[in-house]
Amino acid sequence: MAHLLPVEAIAARCHVLAVNQKLIAIQRLGINGKAVNNRQKAALNRLQNELSMKHGIVQELPIRGEDDGFVFTEVDGVTVVIGPGGGFQLPAVRTYPGTGKPGEKAIDAALDPNYFFRKQSKDAIFKTGHLGPTIGVNWTCGIESCPCNHESIDVRKKRSLIGHR
Ligand SMILES: [Zn+2]
Repeated sequence: MAHLLPVEAIAARCHVLAVNQKLIAIQRLGINGKAVNNRQKAALNRLQNELSMKHGIVQELPIRGEDDGFVFTEVDGVTVVIGPGGGFQLPAVRTYPGTGKPGEKAIDAALDPNYFFRKQSKDAIFKTGHLGPTIGVNWTCGIESCPCNHESIDVRKKRSLIGHR
């Protein structure tokens, strides 16, 4: 810094501060040292904004965890997962509408996941979704009668991620 003019020193210091703040923001979202990527951050912001505008829900979306690039949040007591490409998925829900567009998949379903969860059958013979509304990063819902309790993690994860239509 000794050779910089004061104004350059200030500019350099500001740059360092800005970079640090950006890192802190990413770390705040990161779980177990893994950062939420930019598409996921954009998806979280979009979901937050639409929840606020359309449903008056202004609380900050919680980050419940991360597994294999999937970020877990929760809307109205139902887990919403954001994939690495920024698409929304409802692991507890057996079937819900989604567009095929990257970053847009199932945004409407993610705005009211409880609607789709409530109306689904409580029959335990199904290949997608769960009997419980909240799914942990181990891809189980914690309900004893749910098939996920007896499945390998690969099968549980698949059950959780193929419900969109
Ligand atoms: Zn389950």
